[in-house]
Amino acid sequence: MKTIITLIVLSLAGIYSYGQNGADPSDLTTNNLLRNPGFNENLCNENWQIETCDVTCNGDAGTVWLNHSNRAGDPAIKQTLSNLIPGTYYEVIVGWRGGDHGPIHGVSGARNIFSVDIDGKEIKRLTTNANYTDWMVNDQPESASAYGQITFKATATTHTVRFRGEVGADGDVVIGYVKVQEVDYLKLIGGGPEGPRSNSEIDAGKTVNLEVVFADWSDAPCSSTNFEQLWREITSNSEMINSFARQGATVNFNLNKSWKRMPHPMTHYFPTTTDAQNWKWDDYTRDGQQLLGAGANFPANTILVVVPNKGAAGFKSVGSGAHGASHRNIRRMITLMPQVYNEHYTTLMHEIGHCFGSGELYPASSPYTHEVGCYDLMGDVVYATGFMGWHRYRYGWFNQENIQFLHQKGEYTIDLKKLSATEGTSMIILQDPTKKTKLWVIEIGQDVVSREQFNGTATGKLNSEGDRLIIYTIENPLVAGKRAIRLVPRVNFLPRHGTTEALDAVSYKEGQKFEKRDIPFQVDVKTKTRDGFQIKVSITKNLPFKIN
Ligand SMILES: [Zn+2]
Repeated sequence: MKTIITLIVLSLAGIYSYGQNGADPSDLTTNNLLRNPGFNENLCNENWQIETCDVTCNGDAGTVWLNHSNRAGDPAIKQTLSNLIPGTYYEVIVGWRGGDHGPIHGVSGARNIFSVDIDGKEIKRLTTNANYTDWMVNDQPESASAYGQITFKATATTHTVRFRGEVGADGDVVIGYVKVQEVDYLKLIGGGPEGPRSNSEIDAGKTVNLEVVFADWSDAPCSSTNFEQLWREITSNSEMINSFARQGATVNFNLNKSWKRMPHPMTHYFPTTTDAQNWKWDDYTRDGQQLLGAGANFPANTILVVVPNKGAAGFKSVGSGAHGASHRNIRRMITLMPQVYNEHYTTLMHEIGHCFGSGELYPASSPYTHEVGCYDLMGDVVYATGFMGWHRYRYGWFNQENIQFLHQKGEYTIDLKKLSATEGTSMIILQDPTKKTKLWVIEIGQDVVSREQFNGTATGKLNSEGDRLIIYTIENPLVAGKRAIRLVPRVNFLPRHGTTEALDAVSYKEGQKFEKRDIPFQVDVKTKTRDGFQIKVSITKNLPFKIN
């Protein structure tokens, strides 16, 4: 499972912090979709639309007051956001306080008088603190370590955000700054092969495009011309298509139904006198691309798959691999070796994962420990049947609506659904309490087969999706000798990982609990449901809010 792909390590962005005393936060202008977000222009409300009544700058530089002396309506300012991406989440951060006029009008104590609206509809009502005039960030005093998120999902390229005061009571509101930014807590963790996607990779896309070429050699000519049958053997009949479907993607393949002769004999690419791993992969990948000939460009996410003739011998231990390519807009290719006919569709899918930038997840070091417990194809192509939730999310197959990000102290009872479910929460993400390059993920483990089941000498599954829950971390940059994704085992990793005992040791079932002394959250797997587990996540202190 060799991969020859250059990965770019991205630098890490800082954690968002907000300023003192209602002053502008230091990164107010970074990624802020609002103009004049600190009310610092000549007129504090420049670039803002005033609604209803007498919004004033009131001589107070860097703030805007929402005040309406007649109380007939709610004073508001609004601004239309443009170039939004439909389907993307945005968050609103506002530094504000009650105005001095509240007590004059008999309004004091905690009052929920400040509303954040999108397109005229209230999405969040905020409450002053008991002192009424102390600065707040969203729903928390400015001194708090975290604040509640105010988010909305864009359904069009423009939406109007409005800040409305005196809601339900005649207490005015002062706004120090506002920020609207794309929500980045669900962005990918920074750095490494599990991090943000980069231009060095191809986009997975909801439809995976495979351009399939059958190659043979003058010294090892083809035997069968039943290309459909050869492809069925490689993809395990409809199993590969079904696996992609469970993961939220479709696979589209075009079979070039003729044997293309490689320009050199097999013994040139796979010399029998040298170490098997020293095969001439550079010649092979260059010549393999040329087999496609000239013609129009392919879609940008196309992967070329070079399939060898069945039964060709002499490959020693050369394994199938993924490589860079540059031919008719194709930038990734997979070279399959003849043993692929004896393997599951998972070999091809593992290489497809490499094409999308994923690194290996099988053991990285000695002593041998297998730390993804057969739950991901990048870890093992014998037992696993698909990609973990994190990979699916990273490839763009996983809907953001199905992810719940938790960061605030509290107890959360969650009806966790299988990864293959299309509705409800099926993945929970928490930020590590101390490392901003590390995430924790809770999800339900997918199907796992045993070696006997894989070989067809036994039926059933080692794990059926819904039997077991898994908890894993994603950590970049990589820890030395470790892979970027590792299960947090309930008990331990067992040396022989393709067994129910090993799965039981790393996974969680009904009635079992995850708790670690140095981790400020625990997970109780309460009851098995028809399509997952009901779980309780208890967070004992606020966790960091941003991922990257
Ligand atoms: Zn590999």
